[in-house]
Amino acid sequence: MSETHPAPPAFEARGFGGGAPDNGAAPDLSARAAALDAADDLAELRARFTLPEGLVYLDGNSLGALPATVAATTADVVTRQWGEQLIRSWSDGTWWTAPERIGDRIAPLIGAAPGQTVVGDSTSVNLFKALVGAARLAAPGRTKLLVDAATFPTDGYIAASAARMTGLTLVPVDIPADIPADPADAAGVFGPDTAVVLLNHVDYRTGRLHDLPALTAAARAAGAVIIWDLCHSAGALPVDLDAHGVDLAVGCTYKYLNGGPGSPAFLYIAARHQRDFDSPLPGWNGHAEPFAMTPGYTPAEGAVRGRVGTPDILSMLALEAALDAWDGVTVESVRAKSLALTDFFLECVAAYVPAGVVEPVTPAPHAERGSQVSLRTENASAVMGELIARGVVGDFRAPDVLRFGFTPLYVRFTDVERAARTLGHIFG
Ligand SMILES: *Cc1c(COP(=O)(O)O)cnc(C)c1O
Repeated sequence: MSETHPAPPAFEARGFGGGAPDNGAAPDLSARAAALDAADDLAELRARFTLPEGLVYLDGNSLGALPATVAATTADVVTRQWGEQLIRSWSDGTWWTAPERIGDRIAPLIGAAPGQTVVGDSTSVNLFKALVGAARLAAPGRTKLLVDAATFPTDGYIAASAARMTGLTLVPVDIPADIPADPADAAGVFGPDTAVVLLNHVDYRTGRLHDLPALTAAARAAGAVIIWDLCHSAGALPVDLDAHGVDLAVGCTYKYLNGGPGSPAFLYIAARHQRDFDSPLPGWNGHAEPFAMTPGYTPAEGAVRGRVGTPDILSMLALEAALDAWDGVTVESVRAKSLALTDFFLECVAAYVPAGVVEPVTPAPHAERGSQVSLRTENASAVMGELIARGVVGDFRAPDVLRFGFTPLYVRFTDVERAARTLGHIFG
């Protein structure tokens, strides 16, 4: 954990950068960090989480920290609701309606009116439902399923399978190079043959934030059905699904929503599509009358038709407790702090890390930045290993990216300054 730990030989041998950072000449960033924390309206929210002392945790975009309310709720679910109430918890308790109840709890964070969001299954499974459901909603005769070329792998894999199943042709596209956000200019990409478009709101590797309002407008102007993957934006920045007329969306709850490892994902089905949304996984939980046990399938009204089988109650109720961390918090205030944190991190990196050894790949303009900063460097995997050994946890993404996620609910400006200083020491 010592910050005077010697640099690993690989870095010395490669002669990274221009020698030791001139820390003496750097402005007093640690004093600035302390002042920023003192002025931070969200600072007290950190007490809603259980974080190890002395650790700088910048990996909440992979696994959010543990909210303090989760352990007691989970113990109650196991010992009382399961252990004592047994089967009665399904009918008398809070279990059966958890998917739509917790969906409505997430809804304000993604700008959705109630009744359009349902929780359950993994993001991968919800992508499958959304993609095949979108293909079935699309106007007949359209032939293409567009996916961003840099997509998170699971989205691309499932899109390829959904395309084969529905007879569409998968077309990888670059955003925004290929797809101008202006609907008029986008006509060449989103065209009369585009059936479905699947885009990531924030690129998981680079942290680039895509223009959801404009790209949604462009896709819909072309008559396509658009699905947004919100894994790296839900809980990190305003999404405003209803306001921007998004058709379908999916997202993780174990990243910025802190639901716990493998906590169930969400599926958003805009109200105007619910009547016609035809799930490719019509399980009995999505039936209009699940306990009628009829041989034929009649889908439930609303987003409930996005349910499949028996929900994983332990994970789901842990997620519900985790969402208490959001009580009284607006996603707009979270976004403002997120941008302040990432700005400050970039400033500290510029001050502490020798010139030329790391290159930010996350766009500088706020309108194009998610809640992470990715730095490209040689030996990124070894550098991240060294950072973690010194108590600064981010993650590595192949082939050469150091990735740092900033969760405004619990990350402090002093954490940011220490992370950049530690990085500087590794290269120093
Ligand atoms: C994290 C992430 C996923 C994860 O999907 P799972 O099914 O939960 O494993 C999917 N898509 C994106 C864009 C992600 O960032």
